[in-house]
Amino acid sequence: MYKIMTAGPTQVRENVRMARSLETTNPDLDLEFYEFYKRVCDDLNELLYSSGRAYILGGEGILGLEAACASLTEPGDRVLVVDNGIFGKGFADFVTLYGGKAVMYTCDYKRPVDVQALRDYLEKDADFKYATVVHCDTPSGVLNDVKAICNLLAEFGILSAVDSVAGMFGEYLNVDESKIDILCGGSQKALSAPPGLTLLWVSDKAMESMESRKTPIASFYANILTFKNYYRDKWFPYTMPISDIKGLAAAVDNVKADKDIFLRHEKIASATRTAITEAGLKLYLDEGFSNTVTVVEVPENLKDEQILSIMQNKYQVMISGCFDVLAGKVIRIGHMGENANVSDMAETLGAMDQTFKELGYPLKCSMKDRFLQLV
Ligand SMILES: *Cc1c(COP(=O)(O)O)cnc(C)c1O
Repeated sequence: MYKIMTAGPTQVRENVRMARSLETTNPDLDLEFYEFYKRVCDDLNELLYSSGRAYILGGEGILGLEAACASLTEPGDRVLVVDNGIFGKGFADFVTLYGGKAVMYTCDYKRPVDVQALRDYLEKDADFKYATVVHCDTPSGVLNDVKAICNLLAEFGILSAVDSVAGMFGEYLNVDESKIDILCGGSQKALSAPPGLTLLWVSDKAMESMESRKTPIASFYANILTFKNYYRDKWFPYTMPISDIKGLAAAVDNVKADKDIFLRHEKIASATRTAITEAGLKLYLDEGFSNTVTVVEVPENLKDEQILSIMQNKYQVMISGCFDVLAGKVIRIGHMGENANVSDMAETLGAMDQTFKELGYPLKCSMKDRFLQLV
C-alpha cells in the first residue's frame, strides 16, 4: 500500500470507507433517501455559506465543470475563460463543445489573476453571458481570489462558473459573499472521500438563466435543471450512487467537526513551502500559493519520473507529476484534507530528502527536520 500524497485523490479516513459499506436501499423509491440526500446538500450549503441550491451528481469532478458549461451555454454565447492555469484553460473545451464562443483571458501562470487588470479588460469588453474561473488550479497550485473576481463579474452582469474542486474545504470559501453562480466541487480532494461524485452549488440567477434559455440544454447527464425539483417530485434523472453518497456524508461530517481545518492547512502548507525552499529547491509559483498543494520545480539534470519512482517504489509514498504544459517540469505534493497532517507530511518530506540524496542532488538541509521545527 502506498501513502497517497498526490494532488488528489487523497487518503480516505476509515469512517468514510465504512460508511460506503452500509446497507443500501432503492434510492429511487425509498423516500428516506430523498431526506438523506437533501440533508447532505443542506450541510454542503451551510459549510460554504450558500443560500442557493446544492446538488450531488453521480460522476467524478469533471462532470461538474461540463454540467456548468452544458447548462449555461447556448450556441453563439460569448463566454470569458479566465486562464491562468491548465484547468482554467481547459474550460474552453466545454464551452466550445456546447456551441459557445470561448474568449480567452490568458495571464501569467505563475501568479493569481490580477483583478484590476481584469477590470480594465472588462471595461472595454464585458459582453459575456458567463465567465469560468478556477479557485485553486492544481497543476501549478495557484490560488485565485474568486471572491474579488466573481464580485467584479457580477458588477458587469456576467455570471460565474467556478471550479473549486481542489480549493474548497482547504481554503475558506463563502459562496454568497463571493457571488458565485455555479460552484463545482468533487468528492476526492479536501473532502477526502474517494473519487466518484460531483458537487454543485447553484445560485438563483444561474437557475433563471438556464430556465430562460431559447434552446434546450444539449445534454441529459450534464443537465443541472433536471435536479431542480428532485425533492418536490421525489425523482432523480438517474439512480443516485447511494454508497458513494453515504461515504460523502461521513466526509462532510468530518469536515463539520474539524474546527481548525483552514488553520491546519495553512500551517502544514506554509511549513512545507519554507522547508522546500530552504533546502534549495524552487517552488513553481512566484506568488498565490494554495494551501492544498505544493508544486516544486524539477531541478535541472533530474527527471520527474526518477523522483516519483524512487518515492513510490522505495518509500511507498506517492506524489504527483504533472501534465500538459507542465509535464516533466514539476512535482506536486497534495496536502489537502486527510493529507494535511504533520506525520504524513513529515514522512513525505523525509522520503524526498532520501530520494534527492540517492539521485546525487545535494539539499541544503533536511526538509523533514526543517518542517518538524516549523509546525
Ligand atoms: C482534481 C480536479 C478536477 C477533477 O479532475 P480530475 O483530473 O478528473 O481529477 C477538476 N478541477 C480541478 C482544479 C482539480 O484539481
